[in-house]
Amino acid sequence: MNEELLQQVQLAYGVENWSAGYFDISSQGHIIVRPGSDDQRYADLKAIVDQLLQKGRVRLPLLLRFPQILTSQLRVLSAAYQAAIDEFEYVGQHYPLFPMKVNPRREVVEEFLREGTRCRVGLECGSKAELYAAIAQEQSPDSLLLCNGFKDEAFVRTALLGVQSGKRVTIVVEKLNELRMVLKLAQQIGVAPWIGLRAKLYSRGSGKWASSGGDSAKFGLTTSEILECVRLLRDAKLDHQLTLLHFQIGPQITDIKRATNAMKEAARVYAKLRQIDCRIEYVDIGGGLGVDYDGSKTRFDSSMNYTVQEFANDVVYTFKTVCDEENVPTPHLVTESGRFMTAYHSVLITCIRDEIETFADDQPEVTIDDDDPQVITELKDLCDSINVKNYVEYYHDALQLKDELQIQFNVGLVSLEDRAKGDVLFWEICDQALRESEEDRFPDEEFEQLKRNLAQKYLCNFSLFRSAPDSWAIRQLFPIVPIHRLNEKPSDYATLVDVTCDSDGKIDRFVDLKAVKQTLDLHSWDPAEPYYLGIFLVGAYQEVMGSHHNLFGHPNEAHIAIDDDGRFHVKKIVPGSCVDDMLQFARYDHAQLSASYRKQLDSQVSCDHLSREEADRLLLEYEAGARRSTYLE
Ligand SMILES: *Cc1c(COP(=O)(O)O)cnc(C)c1O
Repeated sequence: MNEELLQQVQLAYGVENWSAGYFDISSQGHIIVRPGSDDQRYADLKAIVDQLLQKGRVRLPLLLRFPQILTSQLRVLSAAYQAAIDEFEYVGQHYPLFPMKVNPRREVVEEFLREGTRCRVGLECGSKAELYAAIAQEQSPDSLLLCNGFKDEAFVRTALLGVQSGKRVTIVVEKLNELRMVLKLAQQIGVAPWIGLRAKLYSRGSGKWASSGGDSAKFGLTTSEILECVRLLRDAKLDHQLTLLHFQIGPQITDIKRATNAMKEAARVYAKLRQIDCRIEYVDIGGGLGVDYDGSKTRFDSSMNYTVQEFANDVVYTFKTVCDEENVPTPHLVTESGRFMTAYHSVLITCIRDEIETFADDQPEVTIDDDDPQVITELKDLCDSINVKNYVEYYHDALQLKDELQIQFNVGLVSLEDRAKGDVLFWEICDQALRESEEDRFPDEEFEQLKRNLAQKYLCNFSLFRSAPDSWAIRQLFPIVPIHRLNEKPSDYATLVDVTCDSDGKIDRFVDLKAVKQTLDLHSWDPAEPYYLGIFLVGAYQEVMGSHHNLFGHPNEAHIAIDDDGRFHVKKIVPGSCVDDMLQFARYDHAQLSASYRKQLDSQVSCDHLSREEADRLLLEYEAGARRSTYLE
């Protein structure tokens, strides 16, 4: 692939900016995926998809999971902390926890725990269901099992089951009453968990979620509540169980300065507690380590202005300096970086199924008749003489004439044929104006908007609400790239719509280095040729937050391991939901539905609208439909 084309393609999709080394473009113009960020091994994403589809084992949409990328991210995180610990001669170790709420899938959790002995990886859970799964998992013996979130007695009892099976279960107290309950149960049962205190920080996070930290945060104890907890623990003679201080800056920290401030505050809280004889050994700095979804390395919501190494250095250095100043021992550092560890490992593959017609598509040639209203002839004049010098002015004139046409139509002065002519001419002028603006070095912003209005709309076979819900809910950006044909210059631009009947089921914001792009560069689409798009970095939160809107279910899923020499292995296929699965979810009963449908057929038979044979055939067809995919086949 020549250098200039590669540059154009990189500019269009920014793969090298956001891929963290896991994805790249091959000389064939395909996206390739690597099991580690500096790994020589790779597999061709298009080849993986082709093979899976050819064997007929799966259909689109398809979630590809690369478990090796999970372990790789965990190693990157561990290595960053280890390097910082070495550099600053920090006394203490790093304990990475995986927060289960980010992706509670068994295969994901197990993948992390397999890596456990190497870097003490443990689990963080925030609900009874997560905890229930967690206490049964094999964990490396020195790793932690942390319980966050609001708790009832059953939650605490389950946690104590974990203590009794030999785990280092730490219950992090969010509220004073919780501690009272934990102490009561511990005394009743005669088993005590390790206790952590979650401190409310005054410093806030940054970006979209800045409000999730700080004074008014939903979670955590104020300073006076912390002191009260210490008193309660001492009264219960369980103060030796207080081992951990937890705080959480907020998700997707975009600006490292904010993190540094929070860290300084947390380190002081820790140091002051040590000084009043609390033998806290672990400080849990929570999650929030960002993912650079757009690759811009900025404080923008979907980005971050630091590297994981800078973040780790900051944490380690801050704790080291504050503890030295305060003359207390440095704590072990616990992290709960969920997004960072999981985002990269899965890709949703979808394809363009159809285009939604827009005004800009193949319009008939307009011929002007003598009796056409003046607005039409004026539009035609604009259309015939628009050029690079006058395009802004002519575009504005066209907007006015279009309004004028509408007014005249509303009072009955314009026929349907003339209105249609006017529309065609208007969109032709827009199309030309847009073309001229692209030649302009400093086009006005209104042409960016015009570009979006004129963009193709492609129907893609997936549900945004199921597979990338944050795109809808919080306007999060995900990189979207065709996984092939990248050795051709993209000549088209488009926005995407999904298969749900929801007008919000669309993507019209795309990653870009400088801003947010309103259209995605694509290749000309030929309905006869499959055109696959990958939605990348969807491994964190998207799977679990996705909903069953319109009763679209889970996509098919394949787990892929990457070997030497471009070889890959399909480790596992998890079939997507079928119609019947979704009906059950909405509390329909298959047998009841069939019986009810049959009853209606029977009544058609009894009044001779259907023959018995036809009715039987229809019933079979109805029943077969229950096993179909919920997506377009
Ligand atoms: C959600 C959550 C995390 C994970 O945060 P990321 O931003 O995904 O790293 C960590 N700790 C707690 C307590 C959480 O609630």
